[in-house]
Amino acid sequence: MKINESRLQQHFEAMSMIGKIGSTGTNRPAHSADEKKAFELAASWMQDAGMKTRIDNFGNLIGTLEGADTTLPVLMMGSHLDSQPYGGRFDGVAGVLCAIEVVATLKENNINPKRNIEIISFADEEGWRFNKGLFGSRGILGKLEDGELQRTDKDGITREQALKDFGCDITKFKESEYAPGSIFCFLELHIEQGPVLDIANKPIGIVTGISGPLWLTVTLKGQAGHTGSVPMPLRKDSLLGAAEIIVAVNEIATQDTSAPTVGTVATINVFPASRNIIAEQTEFTIDLRDIDLDRRHRYEAQLMQKIESITQKHKLTYTIKEDTNSEPRYCAEWIKAIIKNNCEALHLDAPELMSGPFHDALALSYACDYGMIFVRCKDGISHNPLEYASYPDLALGAEVMYATVLDILKK
Ligand SMILES: [Zn+2]
Repeated sequence: MKINESRLQQHFEAMSMIGKIGSTGTNRPAHSADEKKAFELAASWMQDAGMKTRIDNFGNLIGTLEGADTTLPVLMMGSHLDSQPYGGRFDGVAGVLCAIEVVATLKENNINPKRNIEIISFADEEGWRFNKGLFGSRGILGKLEDGELQRTDKDGITREQALKDFGCDITKFKESEYAPGSIFCFLELHIEQGPVLDIANKPIGIVTGISGPLWLTVTLKGQAGHTGSVPMPLRKDSLLGAAEIIVAVNEIATQDTSAPTVGTVATINVFPASRNIIAEQTEFTIDLRDIDLDRRHRYEAQLMQKIESITQKHKLTYTIKEDTNSEPRYCAEWIKAIIKNNCEALHLDAPELMSGPFHDALALSYACDYGMIFVRCKDGISHNPLEYASYPDLALGAEVMYATVLDILKK
């Protein structure tokens, strides 16, 4: 292997000490003092690899390795160093540290790239602190939404204040944006956060795309009444209707067992929530994802029919609010082909798979071609201190990424 596995492992171990909780957990909120410490450590490794580093006005850490022609669009790699409040050591960190390992290896092999290479640790990928993620990756593309800076965290601190405390100048966002066409392509390595590779016993996967989530909030309205006296045929029980819709979501998402569709109801609110009052109102969320947008549309139409017929059956009224409707974003065929070639050269049988979770690459997909490498994570556990990816697997991922960067530099 060209990359240095023991150095990579040391970097993971050192990074895991910042914001450490318990024996294997991490809590590194976005724009926090711990994220700053993580940036300082990562920046020191970037500098060792010959990169210039800076923190931009969105709170992103950026390392730049100058190429022979600095006017060419940049080859960008990255991920994030913020974590979930009760997170693991590898989500996001893997993409940043493996990218640094790639550049360190370029330097050791005296390879001077023709174009600039940049590594970005994007600010607030996770999104839990202000209930809105991919902040830094949307920021550099000029895609922040109105009111985002006024969102508050649980302590009442606004995003604006958190950015100022972090040292960012929010009046200079424009200076931190990337002009259209200035990014040649984007590469992100990430732990899978699902069990597909672990079950298949494969260390590396090639991502085909990031599936688009459809997020709905459904509110069913019936009629409250005494559970001891209202006869069953006369009831308008909103919770009963919700129960049937929840089952329907599952049936719709599983009708084609060969498809990667996932459909989930994971929150439910019942009013008035008394054991002897028939539920007057029930509100729940639906999360439907698929890499095939046509199929997702078809399933959504089936779902709407089901909601219509189930609410009629139980004499309920309903409203549906669409919270998010993202389209799937596909990885570039040419980058996938390069990754596949390099996996084969390393005798890796790397399956193709879609990403259900979204990543910074989703934001970048609107600005340039992108590719993603998945590394197996044990039992598919993520967003949990038990999250685990082995160092040999991570080293293989970095090696594939290194070879991929060399090939992309020939373009
Ligand atoms: Zn992540």
